[in-house]
Amino acid sequence: MGKPTGFMEYARKGIVDRDPLDRIRDFEEFHIHLSEEERRQQGARCMDCGVPFCHTSYGCPIHNLIPEWNDLVYKGKWEEAFYRLKYTNNFPEFTGRVCPAPCETACVLGINEPAVTIKDNECTIIDRAYEMGLMVPRPPKVRTGKRVAVVGSGPAGLAAADQLNQAGHQVTVFERDDRPGGLLMYGIPNMKLDKGLVQRRIDIMVQEGVEIVTNAWVGRDVDPEKLVAEYDAVILAIGSTRPRDLPVPGRDLKGIHFAMEFLKANTKSLLDSNLSDGTYISAKDKHVIVIGGGDTGNDCIGTSIRHGCAGVTNFELLPKPPEEREKAAPWPLYPRMFKVDYGHAEAIAKFGRDPREYCILTKEFIGDGRGHVKAVRTVRVEWEKDEQGRHVMKEIPDTEEIWKADLVLLALGFLGPEEDVPGILGLERDPRSNIAAPYGSFLTSHPKVFAAGDARRGQSLVVWAIHEGREAAYEVDRFLMGESVLPRMRP
Ligand SMILES: Cc1cc2nc3c(=O)[nH]c(=O)nc-3n(C[C@H](O)[C@H](O)[C@H](O)COP(=O)(O)OP(=O)(O)OC[C@H]3O[C@@H](n4cnc5c(N)ncnc54)[C@H](O)[C@@H]3O)c2cc1C
Ligand code: SF4
Repeated sequence: MGKPTGFMEYARKGIVDRDPLDRIRDFEEFHIHLSEEERRQQGARCMDCGVPFCHTSYGCPIHNLIPEWNDLVYKGKWEEAFYRLKYTNNFPEFTGRVCPAPCETACVLGINEPAVTIKDNECTIIDRAYEMGLMVPRPPKVRTGKRVAVVGSGPAGLAAADQLNQAGHQVTVFERDDRPGGLLMYGIPNMKLDKGLVQRRIDIMVQEGVEIVTNAWVGRDVDPEKLVAEYDAVILAIGSTRPRDLPVPGRDLKGIHFAMEFLKANTKSLLDSNLSDGTYISAKDKHVIVIGGGDTGNDCIGTSIRHGCAGVTNFELLPKPPEEREKAAPWPLYPRMFKVDYGHAEAIAKFGRDPREYCILTKEFIGDGRGHVKAVRTVRVEWEKDEQGRHVMKEIPDTEEIWKADLVLLALGFLGPEEDVPGILGLERDPRSNIAAPYGSFLTSHPKVFAAGDARRGQSLVVWAIHEGREAAYEVDRFLMGESVLPRMRP
């Protein structure tokens, strides 16, 4: 531990963001790093508390060795910090930007003081590693002669591919989109995660020997049975991509889209033509209603504002989260708490109000007589507990409201992986329609096919996808070689 009194001397200082009214004029990332001195002070705040919950399963899912690299940050030993971070995390430049940082809600200092800025420290370490030229291709020295196919190039597929390539196997990643990265590329918008950074990391993997085949839809362009026959093992990391619908009257009107249609088309057009090809769904001058919250809803808000929407409102069925931890989620558990994310902050700056409306249920989409949506009819709801203690929703009488809407975006979550590949291979599903593959073995009902990420665990987080990709890679390595040379960070 570098500075025993650091947590008493220095206040938490988070990463600085560009002013919301300035940043909504472009799709560039908006975080600005602290100076080196300030960052080292933030590293010094880590107490090296003896039992660091931040890197247990209550905190970081990939078990980043947080106190170790916090100490190295404090001492300015950036190269050592980078190697310590790289040991557990294939993609700190992604988690350092988009992770909700469960490590910080499990930080011991966070019991009675603002937690250590773990996520920002992580981001600085990897960004400095690139600046210092440390993040270079390192192909494996020995090849095993085994071939592994990975279907899907999101964080789970990429983490698995990186690990297996480093173990010496020849890995081919099949991706149906025109660019690799999964939701890192075509889900999370550019202002939150710059696509140049995603491509830069993938380019290094390619230079290390990973083969990535894009525009290759397994189940349509590529026969899954053939993959199973030709490769020594197959990992399915196809994500959870079936969106939840809202089948209320008027759903078939024009102007109502799933959030991913909106977000994906925007990023593709941004990358292809800087939004000049007109292939995206524009929110310009429109009254936008986003139904559903979470990261996806927030990204729809931020993107609509950048298009120049006339206004944006976000419906949430659940009540407003508490400002403080609830008793049901004591430290070190991850609490459901009210937060103002970047899109909310931008809406407040632009339109003078938080866009979120809580306890509101959509009853109908109303058309303009020409087949296009023009309004949404809602009622307010309240939540009560029934005799079994379950939360039950009740509509409140006489609370009907009509909301002007030219564009409606459905951000209601996802229902599991698409049917094609698991269907053709006849794989078993779990009760939530995810691919059944027990945590620990990651093996599906097919003896050569493994599954990882959202396709296995359901809609989740980038850091969990990385964890699953690494764990599945370990199991595949063991399956191929009898034992694994890969590091394993299990609780
Ligand atoms: C809009 C949005 C914002 C989010 N923001 C955050 C955030 O800020 N922080 C966070 O931690 N998490 C966030 N998440 C969640 C996170 O992105 C996912 O949990 C994570 O990407 C899952 O990784 P994955 O590799 O399992 O799947 P995905 O990233 O979904 O990748 C699956 C890939 O498989 C490909 N594929 C599917 N079927 C086939 C096939 N048959 N053949 C070939 N390829 C196929 C898909 O095209 C896709 O590229 C967000 C999710 C969304 C939708
Ligand atoms: S990956 Fe997420 S949970 Fe882990 S240290 Fe980084 S910010 Fe924290």
